[in-house]
Amino acid sequence: MDRMHQVVGRARAAFNSGRCRSLEFRMQQLKALERMVQEKEEEIVAAIKADLHKSGPNAYSHEILCVMRDLIMAIDKLSAWAAPRPVQRDLLTLRDEVYIVPEPLGVVLIMGAWNYPFLLVMQPLVGAIAAGNAVVIKPSEISENTNRVVADLLPQYLDQELYPVVTGGIPETTELLKQRFDHIFYTGNSTVGKIVMAAAAKHLTPVTLELGGKSPCYIDNDCDLAVACRRIAWGKYMNCGQTCIAPDYILCDPSIQSKVVENIKATLQELYGEDVKKSPDYERIINKHHFRRILGLLEGQKIAHGGEADEASCFIAPTILTDVSPASKVMEEEIFGPVLPILPVKSVDEAIEFINSREKPLALYVFSNNKKLIKRVISETSSGGVTANDVIMHFFLSTLPFGGVGKSGMGAYHGKHSFETFSHHRACLIKDMKMEVANKLRYPPGSQKKVDLAKFFLLKMFNKRQTGLVILALLGIVAAVVMKNHQSLLKRKALLIVLAVQRLGWLSVW
Ligand code: NAD
Repeated sequence: MDRMHQVVGRARAAFNSGRCRSLEFRMQQLKALERMVQEKEEEIVAAIKADLHKSGPNAYSHEILCVMRDLIMAIDKLSAWAAPRPVQRDLLTLRDEVYIVPEPLGVVLIMGAWNYPFLLVMQPLVGAIAAGNAVVIKPSEISENTNRVVADLLPQYLDQELYPVVTGGIPETTELLKQRFDHIFYTGNSTVGKIVMAAAAKHLTPVTLELGGKSPCYIDNDCDLAVACRRIAWGKYMNCGQTCIAPDYILCDPSIQSKVVENIKATLQELYGEDVKKSPDYERIINKHHFRRILGLLEGQKIAHGGEADEASCFIAPTILTDVSPASKVMEEEIFGPVLPILPVKSVDEAIEFINSREKPLALYVFSNNKKLIKRVISETSSGGVTANDVIMHFFLSTLPFGGVGKSGMGAYHGKHSFETFSHHRACLIKDMKMEVANKLRYPPGSQKKVDLAKFFLLKMFNKRQTGLVILALLGIVAAVVMKNHQSLLKRKALLIVLAVQRLGWLSVW
């Protein structure tokens, strides 16, 4: 398809024109994006509602709020982020200018997923623009309404050559991935993640993969169950369970399992009222394919709560499964729906062992009054991120990098971390043409003496005081050499100075 080649070619030509290198230009584009979100908020919210049956307030707080916060932060901090960062020097570079400067990567591709269809393209876009790149934006075709709105609005506010939006399904994306990019930022499932990475490898293009997985949630016996279950239920059932960092399953002692069920049921009543189907705060499954996939996970399970479904409206009620076996289908794949399995474990040791026997998750949750236990779980496991005594919330703090590890992804973003992801950190060393004598150390002919000196200068770690002493010693050596070479001259000069001073009568003061 020539179209993809043309789109990327145009973006590259625009990047090569150099206009997005200037901070003024980037700032202007970020402000235009901010204006777009403010002016078109209603359209955006309506599209999200049409895709996921999400209420206006929820669309704003789940998607637009984070985009706005990252925009405001980028506009405020851009010049600080983009400034050269001086680094520590060693003895050989003491006189030089040494710094790291972030520079744009070039033309980057951002591919979003359907579950937070606006947020997942816009939040990385903020970082990519701030870092000075040209960006090809590919929203998910599955969330078709938001896809259309993004494709319609962005060209009205942003430079059209630098930031084109590409729409379409698998054939278009396949063609797009054949093009050469300087970075690909992909959010979605790991099967497609492998396709993206393989396509990127053909051009040696680096990738950020924001994938999913099964995020565990361990509840310790020593914890306030009512609070824990309210927080878990909120994070699990928001967006109808279609959240990459939703707690996928619960691990807890069998003795508290029924209390966990009762507390979550009570919370569901609190959050969604008597009839969850009528609640404006409860979303729907994105399409029939996912609806059937999720219902398939319930087969053969003990349903402690929920299980009701309506295919016509893609409704699945908040569901809790108890005494779930680790070998069951629901524990094989990421659930990505409103189904919460509870797996009994007898101790925190067993929970840790269970977590470590599986792929590294995107998020991990632990609830306990015991801080030592929380720290132990963190230090003995691995995951993209952790929130203790709550769920999801590490996502909202943009000073924390958001991303996966192992099978849950690679790379991270949010706030300044997005800027870093879309920047090359260029190492800069600026020397002058003096002090050639010092360079003799590295020029041939080689000798053991030179190696010993190099070892002394480069392998020894000096603290500030020691560095000062070494410099003093070096100055002493230089002074001694100079004195030796020019002794008679110096003596004569010193005599002249003393005589001159005496004549001026200055010595009488002493
Ligand atoms: P999706 O179907 O919207 O696909 C994501 C992107 O991949 C889309 O842009 C789509 O066009 C493209 N795509 C799909 N099939 C392709 C193919 N065969 N070749 C090339 N491109 C293709 O979204 P999804 O994958 O269903 O998203 C859900 C998954 O994403 C879940 O696993 C979830 O955990 C994960 N996710 C992760 C994060 C995160 O931040 N880590 C956020 C949201 C979702």
